Amino acid sequence: MPGFELFGEEERKEVNEVLSSGILMRYGFDGPRKGIWKAKDLEEALCKQLNCHYAQLTSSGTSALTVALAALGIGAGDEVIMPSFTFVASFEAVLSVGAIPVIVDVNDSLTIDPQAIKKAITPATRCIMPVHMCGSMADLDAIQTICREHKLLMLEDACQSIGASYKGKFLGTIGDAGALSFDFVKTVTCAEGGAVLTNDKAIYTRCDGYSDHGHDHQGMDRGAEMHPFPGNNFRISELHAAVGLAQIRKLNTFLAIQKKSHQYLMETLSRIPGVSLRVIPDPEGDSHTFLSWFLPSVELTQAVVAEMKSKNILAGNFYWYEHNWHYIRKWDHLKQVETLNRLTDAQAGALKKLQVQDFSRSDAVMSRCISTAISLSWTEEQLYEKASGIAAAIRKVLPTASPQTHYSHQANLA
Ligand SMILES: *Cc1c(COP(=O)(O)O)cnc(C)c1O
Repeated sequence: MPGFELFGEEERKEVNEVLSSGILMRYGFDGPRKGIWKAKDLEEALCKQLNCHYAQLTSSGTSALTVALAALGIGAGDEVIMPSFTFVASFEAVLSVGAIPVIVDVNDSLTIDPQAIKKAITPATRCIMPVHMCGSMADLDAIQTICREHKLLMLEDACQSIGASYKGKFLGTIGDAGALSFDFVKTVTCAEGGAVLTNDKAIYTRCDGYSDHGHDHQGMDRGAEMHPFPGNNFRISELHAAVGLAQIRKLNTFLAIQKKSHQYLMETLSRIPGVSLRVIPDPEGDSHTFLSWFLPSVELTQAVVAEMKSKNILAGNFYWYEHNWHYIRKWDHLKQVETLNRLTDAQAGALKKLQVQDFSRSDAVMSRCISTAISLSWTEEQLYEKASGIAAAIRKVLPTASPQTHYSHQANLA
């Protein structure tokens, strides 16, 4: 991760085919395009690769989430339960359809805590949105049980976890719908793009229409097509789809490279007393885009981050607790409702409550977590160097800790 690290001739060839046809749009122009349909081909490739009935490409992962929410019929006043650790896109999509993001704790899987979901369910709850962060998965059995019991929809945000699976099924294909992202830093990238996955034909048909102004895509004349409902423009272009097509064919290669490097890094770090690893509900299904590891306390974690910074080895390592974009702690714009356009009273009221909501359980996990991104382009030497550099930084900090701080969050250790 990310897939651009291994761009090559394959991407250029696909893009050049589109450029030489001259048709950059995914719909229409059936004659002039000379049989070149990159978006359609990519949708087919996604279905095949991820063992899923339907895929609808979109312009981004954020628009994939938005399209999926609309297709699931989620709108004004509906509550969507999502985790405190995710990318801002998750709540942006929920707000954009008029719904209310209900944000709850994560546990040491770095994904939504099923117990926290249960406590957050109200009569307005319509959907649960697990976010499969950093290449690995939420506890989907537990979440599915809750969905069944309370008749709720499940929308998986699998934007960071293409190719990862849970008990033999690919992430994004298990809920009522799932979203993927192909933005520039994702495992499969086409600069900007996304997809909704679903096994439900009716949901797919709504995604197909909604992402293209409501077009029903019947017949050969776009102007004469019908609009059963209003939509939006979340289309992908043929140029982007062309890059995505070359990239999806490399996914298995990406996953194999990541797995190997991940294994070595994991063995190196897990040998250090005091280091523990993220809980993974189905370890077999990890996509190994990151190794996420914990230290015993926030103080020690901050000290290791400082040590890595001073040794110039922090690049590619993420201390999400202090990150502006991925964790509730820094989402003041959301909590203060600093939106450009007026939200509904119900939305604004719910967001303001986030200012006083207790996220100490999430803090106890996130404040001790560092995620190391697994590069696709590392040589073996670079991998050894990265692993030993991180290990040295940890070893330098850990022995100096007083026993009290050292074990202050032991209960949360994996
Ligand atoms: C990247 C990402 C998105 C949004 O995808 P874009 O393609 O950048 O719009 C949504 N959710 C998560 C968890 C992501 O990492």
